Amino acid sequence: MDRPRIAIFDTTLRDGEQSPGCSMNVQEKLRLAQQLDRLGVDAIEAGFPIASDGDFEAVQRIAASVRRPIIAGLARACTGDVDRAWQALQGAAHPRIHVFLATSDIHLKYKLRISREKCLERAREAVRHAKSLCADVEFSPEDATRTDVAFLCQVVEAVIAAGATTVNIPDTVGYTMPEEYGQLIGTLREKVAGIDTVTISTHCHNDLGLAVANSLAGVQHGARQVECTINGIGERAGNASLEEIVMAMRVRGDRYPYETAVAGEHLYPSSQMLAEITRVPVQPNKAITGRNAFAHEAGIHQDGMLKNPLTYEIMTPQSVGVPDSRLVLGKHSGRHALALRCEQLGHQFERRELDEVYRKFIVLADRIKKVQDSHLLELIQDVSSSDAAGKKFPPAAATLPFPRAAAAGANSNSNDSHPAHVSGSAGQATVSIPFTDHHSEQEDYLWGV
Ligand SMILES: [Zn+2]
Repeated sequence: MDRPRIAIFDTTLRDGEQSPGCSMNVQEKLRLAQQLDRLGVDAIEAGFPIASDGDFEAVQRIAASVRRPIIAGLARACTGDVDRAWQALQGAAHPRIHVFLATSDIHLKYKLRISREKCLERAREAVRHAKSLCADVEFSPEDATRTDVAFLCQVVEAVIAAGATTVNIPDTVGYTMPEEYGQLIGTLREKVAGIDTVTISTHCHNDLGLAVANSLAGVQHGARQVECTINGIGERAGNASLEEIVMAMRVRGDRYPYETAVAGEHLYPSSQMLAEITRVPVQPNKAITGRNAFAHEAGIHQDGMLKNPLTYEIMTPQSVGVPDSRLVLGKHSGRHALALRCEQLGHQFERRELDEVYRKFIVLADRIKKVQDSHLLELIQDVSSSDAAGKKFPPAAATLPFPRAAAAGANSNSNDSHPAHVSGSAGQATVSIPFTDHHSEQEDYLWGV
């Protein structure tokens, strides 16, 4: 039986970037967009082009280099914004203009100071204009969950008639409850003419900790796109967390019989990369990607886990890309293992780049028994900052937030672990491939020397 496909619309680079302390430069956004592509998201909201020249450039460069997913640019419901978004999206293989306008009385009265009639007219006109430029147009009635339902239906119907292909229903202030949000999606499907011709989307904020639950309720009532962010970053308490939504549907496919195209093994590396770029660590108990998400400390849990992991584990760490904590990186590890571990920490290297990291890794591994994630990240940083051209390594790696760990101190007793914010569940640099014959990789060590 074919399961309905849920499109994952990632807004880490737009809504996520609006969270305090999470701003990113163009290079960093590009790097993350490439990771989101590997992760398999259907759409990337790359920025809000009229907001700043930096945002414009980020959208433009992502559009030019990330070709598989839809690339969306945000615009307020006015000609200038829509034109600017379209300009930034020119090079995109699959461009989408995302127009938004608040529809709740409180926003109309205090923020926009316009009547409902004016709001309706503005929404219709902006969508019509966007449609004249781009076939793929999304419309969001901002603060939809606090909008008079009859008026919301009217606006949604008008933007569909004007050419919108996706209608997103934002819970902008994180106010709604799961049953209520599900019902709202159901009401729109029941009352709005033409709703079956468009994709309904969710966009939930986490002010009451319900963003994921609300998004799932929306899906159960017919939404087929979910807007979300890596690590759930976003305005205030954040957006719905991408990894939680994807894994909830995957682990509980009996209750949520839907498919996404997300490659689970890239969830943890994506989370790690974002934490490293923004220097905002993942909370240790964060579902799916937190340091403790797969850690079992209590004796009775450990005992059960050893007898059968299913006693306390509803999904394997490997299914979300968390490295197998039983395999440790040391001086006998090969290049392949090192490359994989770097990838799990969000760093992809070409062969020659990897050579340099590997050489330093072997020197370090000779001094300390176990190379921790924090050591490895520092090593990458060192290699990166010694690369004068600044081209070989992602620039974000040059600004790692971690304190200098023992890796740099040749004389210190550095066998102790230095758990970094972004370390694996066991706090150790580990790999999830079987170690076969280390020596068979030896010849590979010297490539490019
Ligand atoms: Zn939002």
